[in-house]
Amino acid sequence: MSNLEKDPHELELADAPTPASGVEILEPREVPLGGPRAMTVRRTLPQRGRSLIGAWCFIDHYGPETTRMVVPPHPHTGLQTVSWLFSGDIEHRDSVGSLARVRPSELNLMTAGHGIAHSEVSSVQPTLLHGAQLWVALPDAARDGEPFFENVAASPAEVAGGRLQVFIGTLAGVTSSARVFSPLLGAQLDVDAGATVTLDVDPSFEHGVLVDAGDVSVNGTTVQPAHLAFVDTGHDRLEITAGPEGARVLIIGGTPFGEQIVMWWNFIGRTHDEIVQYRDDWQSQVIDGGDADGRFGTVDYDGSALPAPELPAIRLKPRG
Ligand code: MN
Repeated sequence: MSNLEKDPHELELADAPTPASGVEILEPREVPLGGPRAMTVRRTLPQRGRSLIGAWCFIDHYGPETTRMVVPPHPHTGLQTVSWLFSGDIEHRDSVGSLARVRPSELNLMTAGHGIAHSEVSSVQPTLLHGAQLWVALPDAARDGEPFFENVAASPAEVAGGRLQVFIGTLAGVTSSARVFSPLLGAQLDVDAGATVTLDVDPSFEHGVLVDAGDVSVNGTTVQPAHLAFVDTGHDRLEITAGPEGARVLIIGGTPFGEQIVMWWNFIGRTHDEIVQYRDDWQSQVIDGGDADGRFGTVDYDGSALPAPELPAIRLKPRG
């Protein structure tokens, strides 16, 4: 997915203090993705009060909606994209030659490293699309690496009160083989009606629980659908309770990232000048050029790539 906000202005971000319960509620904001078939997503990261949970730096949650997703080729740097569907089917093509279908219970993980481009298109007929796209910031030691793509079936686990599908890291004794570059966790949890699932978690991690559906409480705090509960480090369990309809949540986590990042449009760098260079490379090599040997390569796609928006007049500041 591309950050298609017309004016992806830099937010002034400062992490807010966490309440005494240790659970902070982050509200979604609706962001239209633009284009002729505008999809609206619910974005919970980044936001004014919080820029990162572990290395997780971006969460877009969408659907259920009968629609088509058409995201033409666009670039990424310095991050991994995590595509996770509850329903639907999206075709992924990228500039390292991958052609993959994103399906429920399968992780599609694209590691941008120093640069990659991809397109994401759902089937020709409108389908029920429901899922999330998340981004993971790559630490400095990995962010200039070679780009690659992998499709990994989630590791399922039965837990008391529900079912878990671990797609990144380890939870409830189950480990995903997906390759990540900092201590990280990603999983879908389905909670039975009226049940509580208790998960032992690493207290050195901060966690996020994104509620897809259901009446949910996290460690005793009510969390509305589409909202993200942030649980600070120092907690060694997550207690997730569902109301009478049951619930479905995504659980993310990781050790505090500890590096300042500059995030603009679809790029993550460390300085304003790096972002300017990434944008210039995209515009000159792809939008105006077609340089298959450039930073981003080319995507086998019937249509035009997305031009980058104008940079803001101010210098982008590192945060995190
Ligand atoms: Mn993308």
